[in-house]
Order: sequence, then structure tokens, then C-alpha cells
Amino acid sequence: MTALQVENLSVSYRVPGGELHAVRDVSLSVTRGEVLGIMGESGCGKSTLAAAMVNLLPAGARIAHGAVRLDGTDMLALSPAAQRALRGRSVAMVFQDPMTAFNPVLTIGRQLADFVGAHDRALARPERLAEMLGRVGIPDAARCLHRYPHELSGGMRQRVAIAAALLMQPDVLIADEPTTALDVTMEAQIIHLMRDLRTTFHGAIVIVTHHLGVIAELCDRVAVMYAGEVVEEGTVDAIFHDPQHPYTRALLACDPAVVVPSSGRLPTIGGRLPDLTAPPRGCAFAPRCTLAEAACEAPVPRRTAGAGRSVLCHSAPQGGQG
Ligand code: ATP
Ligand code: MG
Repeated sequence: MTALQVENLSVSYRVPGGELHAVRDVSLSVTRGEVLGIMGESGCGKSTLAAAMVNLLPAGARIAHGAVRLDGTDMLALSPAAQRALRGRSVAMVFQDPMTAFNPVLTIGRQLADFVGAHDRALARPERLAEMLGRVGIPDAARCLHRYPHELSGGMRQRVAIAAALLMQPDVLIADEPTTALDVTMEAQIIHLMRDLRTTFHGAIVIVTHHLGVIAELCDRVAVMYAGEVVEEGTVDAIFHDPQHPYTRALLACDPAVVVPSSGRLPTIGGRLPDLTAPPRGCAFAPRCTLAEAACEAPVPRRTAGAGRSVLCHSAPQGGQG
């Protein structure tokens, strides 16, 4: 059953001299028990999309168009109070920077209690909070409740952030770069924790990352973003073994986790992201694409091939493997 569905979502930021179109006409869905990865280069709109999924966008951002459905209900159409009630219980988010997610002058226990207490007083009991911290692998969880955020390592803070998101057993968990701020050892530990969650947490999980190894380890399906659009979507297997979009191919060719070229040097994608205050009418990747042709200047039709497989490219084969 579909837990979260994003329909034709467009989000823009007010910037000097105009509007920056950070998320452009994105449609995605994720079902219970499924893990969806969202990947793409820095600045392609991953965090903006994730924040829009919980409607917690920064000031200056505006949802220009679209719907975010949780179990069929369009969250964006609800009152702020109704949205607050859904947040935490239906959908919860782990933000990109675990330090900024905490208040530095309050203990972990106090923050967790405030967070869940607004929804359900019983959940705010210290024993209950400590139990949840134990479940995400925090040693001596009862003592951790009395600590301040700066007293914890980055990995432990990230575990607390994940525990906080899970406290109300949401239907959908969204994690924005859950491992990026961490060193390699802690990253491996958080990946391990997230992998455990796949079996113990029965909701849907959305993981935003630019780390292909995280996608390969944790996800069932993946959406590849470029310049605010989803340019390709499919199972992890299909995307990694049969990428159709030239951007996906270039991204995979750049990542040391996926291929180590025999030359020993990693290729990079030449060129830069387009100016998102004036996105092109046609394919946004065309200026960097070795296959670009005149047709790419016109709006690109989305090609679908079987359940959940789609590609936004003129050159992609019609009706490939699903
Ligand atoms: P990263 O991998 O670096 O986290 P991202 O894929 O999460 O990048 P976003 O942070 O969503 O990308 O940014 C998408 C676009 O929106 C970028 O062009 C960025 O500069 C712009 N942007 C993000 N936040 C703001 C903001 N608060 N005000 C104006 N523009 C913003
Ligand atoms: Mg981001």
C-alpha cells in the first residue's frame, strides 16, 4: 500500500532577482516496507524535496504546485495544526545536519520528551525514551537522557535523531543524508542500524544521499535527481546495472564505490548545473551530455517502462526492462 505519494511537486526559493526552481514537477511514491533512495549531485534539490515531504521548508521557500499524500490525504491542503498532528505520527524526518536539529541548551531527554509529549504524554516517560535509545544502539541509554547534544559524538547524535524520528512509530521515515556528516566507521555503523530498521520498522523509508554505496546497501528503489527533476527512477538493480539516462550513467561512472576505472583516475562530469532561476525548456542535462542533439532543446517526454521505471530522456530506449 502506498504510504507516501508526491504528485507533480514544484518548490521554489525567493532569491534576489527572481525565483530559484529547486524542485520541478517531481512525482514519486513509496510503499510500506519499501526503502526509496533519492540521489544526485549537490544542489540538485534532494533536501528541498525531502523537506517538502514533511512541509518543513525553510523561510523563502514556496510550494508552487503539487500534492504530498500520506495514506491518500494531501498534507499540503491541511491546516497547520492538522499538519503538526500528522508530523511525527504519520511522517517523521531526520535532517541533514544532526547538530542543528537539537537545542544546545536542553538535555537529550528533555528534548525527546518535549517532542513526543506534545502528541502523547505516555511516550514521554523516561523509561520509554531510554528504551528507544537502546533500540538504536545507544549504550547506557538512561544516562544519555541527561546529556547535552555537544557531549555526544556525531554518530551518537545521529542515532538520537533517528530514535526521535521513530518514537511515534511513523508510517514514513525520511532521512536526509543520514551518514554524510560522519566519519567512515560511524557511517558504517549508521548504515548497519538503518539496515536493521528495514526489518524492525514496517513503515516506508526515504533515504536522501549522494553516496551510491548507501543506496546499494539500503534501498529497494532509487530516484535520480538532476537540476530539480527526477531524471530516472527504477529498482536499485535496474539503475545500477542498466542505467538509461546519460546523467545516471555519468554519475555511476564517477563513483569509486561502483567502479574503479583501470586508469586509476576517476572521471568527472564536465560542466555545471544549469541556472535554476531560468531552467531550460528542454533537457537540463543537455549542455553536459555527450549524446545531446537538437531534439533535446524541446521539452522531454517521460518514458515509462514497467512498474516504477521511468526515464526523462529523448535517447532512452522505448519500453526497456522494468
Ligand atoms: P546537497 O547534496 O548539497 O545537500 P541538495 O541536493 O540537497 O544538495 P538543495 O539543498 O535542495 O540540494 O538545494 C537545491 C537548490 O536550491 C540549490 O540550487 C540551492 O542553492 C537552492 N537552495 C537551497 N536552500 C535554499 C534557500 N534557503 N534559499 C535559496 N536557495 C536555496
Ligand atoms: Mg541536501
